[in-house]
Amino acid sequence: MKIVLQNLTKIFPSRNKKSNEEVVAVNDFTFTIPDGKLIGLLGPSGCGKSTTLYMISGLQKPSGGKIFFGEDDVTELSAENRGVGLVFQNYALYPHMTVKQNIMFPLQNLKGADKLSKTEMIERAYTAAKLVQIDNLMDRKPSELSGGQQQRVAIARALVKMPKVLLLDEPLSNLDARLRLQTREEIRRIQKETGITTIFVTHDQEEAMSISDLIVVMKLGVVQQIGQPQEVYDDPTNLFVAKFLGTPPINVFDGKVENEKLIIGGSAVLDVKGVADQEVFVGIRPEGFNLDSDGPLTCNLNSVEVMGRDVSVVSTHEAALVPVVRSIINADNKVAAKETVSYSLKPHKVFLFNKETEERIRFEM
Ligand code: ADP
Ligand code: MG
Repeated sequence: MKIVLQNLTKIFPSRNKKSNEEVVAVNDFTFTIPDGKLIGLLGPSGCGKSTTLYMISGLQKPSGGKIFFGEDDVTELSAENRGVGLVFQNYALYPHMTVKQNIMFPLQNLKGADKLSKTEMIERAYTAAKLVQIDNLMDRKPSELSGGQQQRVAIARALVKMPKVLLLDEPLSNLDARLRLQTREEIRRIQKETGITTIFVTHDQEEAMSISDLIVVMKLGVVQQIGQPQEVYDDPTNLFVAKFLGTPPINVFDGKVENEKLIIGGSAVLDVKGVADQEVFVGIRPEGFNLDSDGPLTCNLNSVEVMGRDVSVVSTHEAALVPVVRSIINADNKVAAKETVSYSLKPHKVFLFNKETEERIRFEM
């Protein structure tokens, strides 16, 4: 099921009686989510991810704009009639019910033509449980399950009505690191097997990058960039997106362009053809540095952290806007134990940004 968001907007009235300041939680969001894909909705806390999801689910009414499922305008349709499965961060299973009863619960309210017999309900429950691999736990109570198993029950409960759309709001945040990793692979597998159009909300960039067909990066209610994870990482439209994606994070410097040369801390570090003279922010990905004793960018060496295949070189630079400059270098290269470390730069890993708008400034390579 394709989902079309058309100028979707949500404005909350001020919570504080004294001020009239409204919160624009989602601002003019337009996007077509392709059928059968997994979309990662990504951004810091408070940027409008949940609000977007609740509007798609029908739990919240937009202040403006429209939502289509396929060709049908569902903007005014109630949540029950949209055919969406929703999984929250707090998966809130009914504690007194067994796993089986929990999964079957949404089927019991079906009315009219959709009404199912008990046998059909049990069959559906087992089908959903098999998908998330908990069909051997059907008679347990939620208290007898691990966090990861409980979250699977919540997913099975969302799948049991065979929704056209699956919406997951930070579904992994309550799990420990290892389970988080495992469960996100599971979600990807289930999504691929069922082909259900899925929106996965998270503030964790790595999580979104690793399982999404497309990511949508949001900031303060406004969509910043949409694309395949690698595409967005390699080609960010602004400084916010560049900083939000990537571990270790991008290194940011104060710089300027003079005669099509990029200057950092007084040294010309890169040719940037086609860019007018101006001050800029410079983002350099950790993998964008070449160790080069004659290289133009010289940093004060702090430490070298060996990470197996790679080493991470930690240094400082007077023009850096980050506390430390971190580069990732292949471990075959030896970093000399000196006070400084010098680099040349890989042009496609260096991004320039306008100092006022923080929008990307592109140069020819
Ligand atoms: P996220 O899920 O990305 O953390 P939310 O969609 O929950 O963000 O919230 C977006 C913005 O809308 C935040 O500033 C939040 O405080 C505000 N907000 C969310 N729900 C309400 C509400 N019911 N009333 C007023 N403001 C709200
Ligand atoms: Mg949220």
